[in-house]
Amino acid sequence: MTSFDDQQQPVVEHTENIKCTSCGGNTEYNPESKGLKCPFCGHEMPIEATYNHTVELDFESAGNSRNHLWQEEKRVFQCQNCGAESVLDANVVADFCSFCGSSHISVTEKDAGIQPGLLIPFQISQDQALDKFRVWIKGHFFAPTQLKKTYRLHKISGAYLPYWTYDSHTQSHYVVRVGNYYYETVTRTVYEDGKPKQVTEQVQKIRWHQESGNYREFFDDVLIKASSTVEPKLLQKVQPFQLTSLTDYKLEYMSGFLAERYQTSLQQGFTEAQDVMKNGITRGIERSVAGDIVQVVNLSTDYTNITYKHILLPIWISSFHFNQKVYQFIVNGQTGKVSGNYPLSIMKIVFVSISVLIVLLMVYLFLES
Ligand SMILES: [Zn+2]
Ligand SMILES: [Zn+2]
Repeated sequence: MTSFDDQQQPVVEHTENIKCTSCGGNTEYNPESKGLKCPFCGHEMPIEATYNHTVELDFESAGNSRNHLWQEEKRVFQCQNCGAESVLDANVVADFCSFCGSSHISVTEKDAGIQPGLLIPFQISQDQALDKFRVWIKGHFFAPTQLKKTYRLHKISGAYLPYWTYDSHTQSHYVVRVGNYYYETVTRTVYEDGKPKQVTEQVQKIRWHQESGNYREFFDDVLIKASSTVEPKLLQKVQPFQLTSLTDYKLEYMSGFLAERYQTSLQQGFTEAQDVMKNGITRGIERSVAGDIVQVVNLSTDYTNITYKHILLPIWISSFHFNQKVYQFIVNGQTGKVSGNYPLSIMKIVFVSISVLIVLLMVYLFLES
């Protein structure tokens, strides 16, 4: 649990679902029009996309402030199977886990945590995502035919994945080992047809010394994934997201979608961000110190003016079971890039292997005759 527990409950502003101005039904976010759409009468309502440039939040004071917690009423569902925690509008009930397909999912007492400041709204609709799933599964010959026929039955959910971004000024003191090349002329004796002969050549040597100094660098928006429910390899394949499309988080964008609650805490995320920054600082020092070889041997860094943002990035996810194993298929909700893993049909593999063997055998017999 977070460090917010021992404090009093936040004042939750009760927000109604956004009602259709035409018929009063509950509207849903529609990726195609980037507005709200009423599923009952089809009425469309635009959302004004905004970008607030002062969205950076102070990292040091984050632990003792309740101000940044999710303002609307949300419910957190936890999956007993994979541990994923889904944040949904309070009036929505989850009946299966989008990340593993399990129906062992129950509402928890946990609060939804820090409210996202920015998100990338979905641009790919559910129908488009399903089409991509169909094309993808058909393109994989070794996937079982049964799966290809039933793909429409597999649920595909729109989920916002949690990320942190950190900004920080850094000031580092470093010690480096610097090597500079120099050349020595060496004369040695070689034997040609048994006769000794003198040759001179240039040999490269390295002269080493140590030096120390100070180095400053500002890091902007170091992105850290705060979820581990989607297979990292799959997620890697559908990246990148175009972060220039980030817009202010609005309740409207969540309508009909879920957000995964972050599993990496704000603190842990910063520790990971420091590793990224340390790599950047090391490369920066290696570039700025003159020398043929520069190796950082000691580095101590102060991080100041640290700010963070909690952001959400959109994916469509379908988790399907096949012979008691879970497979994930994901679509980047912004760009439409897909990736997934799928079961192999043993029947097809056996069939193809036997066919190949028969062909090889025939070629062999032909060449022998
Ligand atoms: Zn309506
Ligand atoms: Zn699950």
